[in-house]
Amino acid sequence: MIRRMADRLGHLGQHTHNSNNKRDEDAFDPGLPMPIGGAPSPTGVSAFLSASGHGHGVYDHRGSISTQATSVSEWSSSADNSSHANLHNQLKRVDSDMDMVVEEDADALGRLQVQQRPKLVRRPRGVYRLSDFIFQRTLGTGSFGRVHLVRSKHNLRFYAIKVLNKDRVVKMKQVEHTNNEQRMLECVQHPFIINLWGYFQDTANLYMVMDFVPGGELFTLLRRSNRFPDPVAKFYAAEVGLALNHLHGLGIIYRDLKPENVLLNADGHIKVADFGFAKAVDTTTWTLCGTPDYLAPEVIGQQRYNKSVDWYALGILIYEMLFGLPPYHQTEQNHLVLYDRIQAGPSKVAFPPAAFSDGARDLIMKLMETDPSKRYGNMRHGAGDVFAHAWFREVDWARLEGREITAPYLPRINGDGDASAFERYPEEGGAEGYGMVTEDQNGALFPDFEYTGTS
Ligand code: AMP
Repeated sequence: MIRRMADRLGHLGQHTHNSNNKRDEDAFDPGLPMPIGGAPSPTGVSAFLSASGHGHGVYDHRGSISTQATSVSEWSSSADNSSHANLHNQLKRVDSDMDMVVEEDADALGRLQVQQRPKLVRRPRGVYRLSDFIFQRTLGTGSFGRVHLVRSKHNLRFYAIKVLNKDRVVKMKQVEHTNNEQRMLECVQHPFIINLWGYFQDTANLYMVMDFVPGGELFTLLRRSNRFPDPVAKFYAAEVGLALNHLHGLGIIYRDLKPENVLLNADGHIKVADFGFAKAVDTTTWTLCGTPDYLAPEVIGQQRYNKSVDWYALGILIYEMLFGLPPYHQTEQNHLVLYDRIQAGPSKVAFPPAAFSDGARDLIMKLMETDPSKRYGNMRHGAGDVFAHAWFREVDWARLEGREITAPYLPRINGDGDASAFERYPEEGGAEGYGMVTEDQNGALFPDFEYTGTS
């Protein structure tokens, strides 16, 4: 069954342009003492970065994956998918993103509870057009397009614009995910989540205008540091936890947590980016998507799943921050072995005491719990169990959410628009083709994106 599932997973969003610069995993020695020393230090990471001799290296990003089918009807029409057709028949309703506000859930005794999920409210947004911006360098790439640093001609501020090629989105059957991304981001406003200002399309592409987050990816910081000391990992984990809790409160599952998708703002606080798999969900959903190392066992097992997959992923993230690699990591990319390990559960995962305090280990195990009904974040007290865990004892959650806690690492940024924290990507013609009139068969698939792009 795992083999079938692995075959079905198409690889998306491979940000791996620099595979010849693969990080030297053999050089990572988990037995070494912590690179920064055990004591919490507000400047610990930056001190290590300057002292470590690590240059501005380039590391392999892990691509996100998704089944091509994203709707129940596609599953049930597929000939070799009879098990999913059966599953479909058991479902009370198909997934819907914006309309459903009634949530059904089972309590510990299996009784059905009906709760109201807050209706997602669209924030006011600006009307933008391509000619409002001067395109600069590439900040990141995905399967369907790239993210550019841009400068507004009007207020001279810097923004990031995510450009998605419509043909590619359609070919990879990611229309629903792309519309979800725009709709979810439009409804979300939180200090630790990326801000979407507006969006539009031209005949070839979709454009999403976001804040430029200049500090780069947590991924880059982590790979350069090898691993984070306990207080540093705790700081980032706590901010991610608040972001997840906010999304879950709106009924949104994020589904692609990993250090690549956590960006650092100029003040060192996080901004969760890439809502390509985020979705408003009533109770449960079933699409196979995420990043292999971070997939919860129930996702791999093709069961319906709920927001607890995000708490599972937080457990993986904490592990990776403290250890330098995710718990089921293997050198050769064999997803079948990986998925077997994930389904076997965390009992055999090693927690070297040099990297993990008792508290960290305990929380990670509770988040990586295989049974979602026993997983921290998904029980009676919800996120409260996570926030009240002993590992987070010293965290003042209100002050953290108010960004009153000083971040452990301040990105070195030389003025507005400095993108040196981001890896360099081949520009490949950059933004040259944007705004040109091309044949357009797919515009109607993205009804929320206005046609202001074509000049
Ligand atoms: P995404 O396809 O959304 O995962 O974006 C690809 C990459 O572009 C990310 O991993 C970041 O490195 C970069 N990126 C995305 N959004 C922003 C942003 N708002 N500011 C700065 N960089 C970004």
